[in-house]
Amino acid sequence: MPLFGPKYTNVKVKRKVEVPEGLWTKCEECSEIIYNKTLEENLKVCPKCDYHFTLTAPERIQQMIDPGTFEEFDGQLRSGDPLEFKGPKSYKEKLQLDQVATQLPEAAVGGVGNINGKRVALTVTDARFIMGSMGSVVGEKITRAIERSVQERIPLVIVSGSGGGARMYEGMFSLMQMSKTSVALAQHHAERLPFISILTNPTMAGVMASFASLGDVIIAEPRALIGFTGPRVIEQTIRQRLPEGFQKSEFLLEHGQIDRVIHRKQMKETLTQILDYISPQV
Ligand SMILES: [Zn+2]
Repeated sequence: MPLFGPKYTNVKVKRKVEVPEGLWTKCEECSEIIYNKTLEENLKVCPKCDYHFTLTAPERIQQMIDPGTFEEFDGQLRSGDPLEFKGPKSYKEKLQLDQVATQLPEAAVGGVGNINGKRVALTVTDARFIMGSMGSVVGEKITRAIERSVQERIPLVIVSGSGGGARMYEGMFSLMQMSKTSVALAQHHAERLPFISILTNPTMAGVMASFASLGDVIIAEPRALIGFTGPRVIEQTIRQRLPEGFQKSEFLLEHGQIDRVIHRKQMKETLTQILDYISPQV
């Protein structure tokens, strides 16, 4: 018998439930553990509480656009580093990291494709790439989609997902994208062509304050955070509690800032109805 006993004690713990990596996802809203395959089949919507998980740009295109009809444009555009920005990470490093992580060259994918047979010009932003923020390339891709819509006289659809707004790493060059996209949309509007803006969680700051809020029809996914400044900063600034659900899709619908809140499962069908209604000739 050892003099001082064992050097360790056994502590009884509940057996940890082994969750095989990559097979299950925990719902961010209701904490339900969801089998990934079920989540995929449910268009990445929680089967229990309807929480809409963030989609990547390729997933969004796959869900919205008829198979085999999407044609990407401007995929060769790459961000410069006009300010030679250096922070904890340099802008160049940040770009490279997110390019590897997302397998995308930038935070927006643009092109043309069909929605139930209706050809549209489309840009989708990807919230994983520097928070879906708008730098020169994102602004340029959106502007070119707007111009393509005018050239081809087809409707325009932009899906926004950006918690970052204008991309600070490009300073003034990013801010200029707000006016550039807005001016292009004014010309688009003068051509009497339809623009459907789809807001997903989150659509904030310079993105919401420019092209995303300029849709002829503005649709949001349920419970998406939409606004300019985040709720915490507003509360600190005005020293008041904000109302329940402030800056959520449903609140904005109630207050007239957006036109519809559409569940992801009804999105394509709803877009088809709107396109049929507003542009029967195209
Ligand atoms: Zn849930």
